[in-house]
Amino acid sequence: LSKEEIAEIMEKPAFDKVALGAGAKAKVKKLFGEELPAVQVAQRIVDDVRCQGNEAVLRYTRLIDGADFTAATLEVTQTEIDSAVAGIDQGVLAALAAAAANVKQFHAEKVPESWFTEREHGAVLGQKCTPLDRVGIYVPGGTAAYPSSVLMNAVPAAVAGVQEIIMVVPPDAEGRVNPYVLAAAKLAGVTRIFKVGGAQAVAALAFGTETIPRVDKITGPGNIFVTLAKKAVYGHVDIDMLAGPSEILIIADSTADPGYVAADMLSQAEHDVLASSILITDSADLAGRVAQAVESQLAALPRKAIAAQSLEDNGLIIITKDIEEAVELANLAAPEHLELLTAEPFKLLPFVRHAGAVFMGPYSPEPLGDYFAGPNHVLPTGGTARFYSVLTVDTFMKKTSVIAYTQAALAAVSSQVIQLAEAEGLAAHASAVRIRGN
Ligand code: NAD
Repeated sequence: LSKEEIAEIMEKPAFDKVALGAGAKAKVKKLFGEELPAVQVAQRIVDDVRCQGNEAVLRYTRLIDGADFTAATLEVTQTEIDSAVAGIDQGVLAALAAAAANVKQFHAEKVPESWFTEREHGAVLGQKCTPLDRVGIYVPGGTAAYPSSVLMNAVPAAVAGVQEIIMVVPPDAEGRVNPYVLAAAKLAGVTRIFKVGGAQAVAALAFGTETIPRVDKITGPGNIFVTLAKKAVYGHVDIDMLAGPSEILIIADSTADPGYVAADMLSQAEHDVLASSILITDSADLAGRVAQAVESQLAALPRKAIAAQSLEDNGLIIITKDIEEAVELANLAAPEHLELLTAEPFKLLPFVRHAGAVFMGPYSPEPLGDYFAGPNHVLPTGGTARFYSVLTVDTFMKKTSVIAYTQAALAAVSSQVIQLAEAEGLAAHASAVRIRGN
């Protein structure tokens, strides 16, 4: 293929153009009586929740997730949380606590701080950092449970000093939430938890309902409906980024282990039929061996149906003439996760311009970052790593400018300020300076 043809393949379809898989399409038809693109599904649900509040939240939760709640049973109780913590595997609980400590340590290393600087005549300028009052964190839970996403959202929010952390998570058909998710919420200091997922959860957080409080910002990853709903409510609330179906792009040379490459590709493919797994290599031999390894490892996976569909629709192996060309193509894709499985990954790092997270060398597999290392796993997808960054403590803070001039400092600049105000035709601006004397 020509470079242009490859570039066209690498460029992700915009979120609002993503084609749904067969299962999701059938669900949509059942829900609305007609086939609709995901963007319209998300918008309809958001509009209904905005107009009808709880009634729409409860209806969509019943119709899509099969769980029948009343307004009074939508919130997870303290008893549910305590019994979840008591009933889970204590080894996993200890691993979650260790992961939470790593995430906390990493995020606490760079907390934005208010700062001030001096100017002539005693003037002081600065920036005040303030945590958001109330945030909503979306924890996915449709086809898999993500206690790790609880930690990745709530721990940085707590480190930032957010007072109220409202969590939403889809229930199963019996109305339950995965106990590990609840245990992680307790560990991370979540304030309240509601059993609602999908676009209806995002809309409830954005506009508030009779039961679910309205928040200032919604963070967290989710499937295409969640991601499009976040896009639809942006402006009514802030959002962190568009963190949709997962992606991995691996750049590997002949030194890479094909088994490792295949395992890492499958680790993303098993998330979602819309997930994407791409290998770019300058070694035709490695490409062939990875393709074989993927086939054999796939057969043993419990989620092989999802992974196989994802690979069929969005899997790709590209052979380039050299590794430099591989990096060039990776920058075009701007993947969520980029692995550099080459002899000298640090030599390539300066040339990486667009990626949510970079995993260096054979012993930094992507799942290490998903669960444990410390940096965040909430990452931009769909090529949006061109302009979005990983979730950090900063995501949960606002910055306010501070301007403190003395009389002498104002006098020294007032004629110039007045000139600028008058040039803009804003006489009241000019007089607010003039009235203070020169
Ligand atoms: P989810 O919680 O995101 O979505 C489940 C919800 O979607 C359900 O509660 C339901 O209300 C709604 N839904 C499902 N089918 C629907 C339909 N046909 N019409 C309308 N609404 C529908 O959980 P999931 O589906 O398991 O997806 C999790 C996603 O999160 C995956 O795509 C995974 O790759 C992604 N993820 C991304 C990151 C990141 O940082 N980018 C991290 C972790 C996970």
